[in-house]
Amino acid sequence: MHNEKDYNISGINLSEIRNYYEVHVIKQMKKLLPEFPDFDQCQLCIEDVYALSLSRIPSVYAQNGSIILHKELTDEDVADIVKYAIYQVIGRPRHN
Ligand SMILES: [Zn+2]
Repeated sequence: MHNEKDYNISGINLSEIRNYYEVHVIKQMKKLLPEFPDFDQCQLCIEDVYALSLSRIPSVYAQNGSIILHKELTDEDVADIVKYAIYQVIGRPRHN
């Protein structure tokens, strides 16, 4: 886990800036992962699905708790991205 001070650069704290879609990706993962019996549910694969999903989502940031509401992606868009990531990780897990 990261310490709050790991987010400091020149006295500026970046810990409050998070990608707006992080919670949406987690929500879709909770919903979709049980639909993939081939997915092994291990920590490494779950982390990979999360990281891969976020890397494919355009950066929209929530700052200081105030959410910037760009409704660029629908729940279905996020679900498609998460499903793609699940297929990728099932096909090529980082472990044996
Ligand atoms: Zn795994």
